[in-house]
Amino acid sequence: MTALRPQRRWVGRVCIAGLVALALLPLTTCRTPRARLPLDPAASAEPHLPRTVRVLLAGLESSERVEVQTSAGPVAFWRQGQRVVRSSGESGPRLWLTAPGPLVLAGRTYLGTLELEPHAKGGLRVFLECDLERYVEGVVAAELPLWSALPAELQAQAIAVRTYTAYTLAQHPEPHPYLWDGVQDQAFRGQFVPGASQGEQRAAVRLSRAVEATRGLVLLQGGRVLDVRYHAACGGLTANRASLFPGTAPSAMVACDPCAQRAAAEAAAPAERRPLTWTAQFAPQDLDRLAREAGVGEHLTLLQVIEQDTGGRWQRVRVQGNKGAVALPLDTVRKSLGYATWKSGRVLALDPANGVPGPQGLGVRGLGRGHGVGLCQEGAHDYAARGWTDFAILEHYYPGCAIARLSATTQP
Ligand SMILES: [Zn+2]
Repeated sequence: MTALRPQRRWVGRVCIAGLVALALLPLTTCRTPRARLPLDPAASAEPHLPRTVRVLLAGLESSERVEVQTSAGPVAFWRQGQRVVRSSGESGPRLWLTAPGPLVLAGRTYLGTLELEPHAKGGLRVFLECDLERYVEGVVAAELPLWSALPAELQAQAIAVRTYTAYTLAQHPEPHPYLWDGVQDQAFRGQFVPGASQGEQRAAVRLSRAVEATRGLVLLQGGRVLDVRYHAACGGLTANRASLFPGTAPSAMVACDPCAQRAAAEAAAPAERRPLTWTAQFAPQDLDRLAREAGVGEHLTLLQVIEQDTGGRWQRVRVQGNKGAVALPLDTVRKSLGYATWKSGRVLALDPANGVPGPQGLGVRGLGRGHGVGLCQEGAHDYAARGWTDFAILEHYYPGCAIARLSATTQP
């Protein structure tokens, strides 16, 4: 496969907690799938898996009116002062909607309970309380192109998603934590609803089987749930977590042979056949906004790398304006100029090359997609195509990890 597949997302870090306890089944390393080894005593007390996940439906933030289709008919909610009103006449500071079947709102299908409350910024705020495994299924559907994803690739992604969720739950034990349904956490667009075509029906079966086959499985390290990240395409070498996410533990930089091969092939290919490579052109007004946000004046006069990791990934840059200069993490610059435009830290070239913006602004050419930490989705696809198992893929991108099947129970 030579083309980058669509719908790739990078992922950041999270928060949430759970009212849950757990039971552990025997641990195994990733290299020995499903082997039954003695329970890791260090894991017996700490890790836990949530039964449900609370998700903020960010696309509905501040909506004046929310309309939901249920199997029993439509239900509407709107705000009145500091209360939420339901079309049936009920009102309260917070309302819930539970239905036995799917809940359809804003064109997406959800399973679970909706929770609506007034938003401090106006309008409503909508949360979904969703069964963990259904949530994992929805995230995998949003993260991977189901039409081409292979079973081992789907399973590896499902385990990574579940691990990320469990880890973030454990980090934020506040009473009602939640995950965003977008790039702040993990992409989630509700349940995958296949069309009538055989291809979509088969994709739905593959997705469902992958989640069921990995039910409860999470990655551990030192007896604790691993702080996993994943991304779309590394470009040939993954990144150290600690260098991109301050306050986190270092993680191994892993060679990604599929991406390296693609990058080498693209170097000799015509420009229109370089799907791993990206270009962006930032207009003077975008760059000036960056200068203002960085507090260095009204106009950007220079953008220059000052720190790279051993793989050449940009880490810190000098942002110079007409009133001063500052060193910033590249992530800050990407956030200001747009993650979707400045797609990765693997920068190949600037235009102009000296980083001084011209009349057209500043062009950037780079390689890969996303932050580069942890599992590389592009590489995982190719490894799965080579016959690697889900565990082999995970052990490659998370060296030294162990795996455990956790079962969640609600705490009394
Ligand atoms: Zn890769």
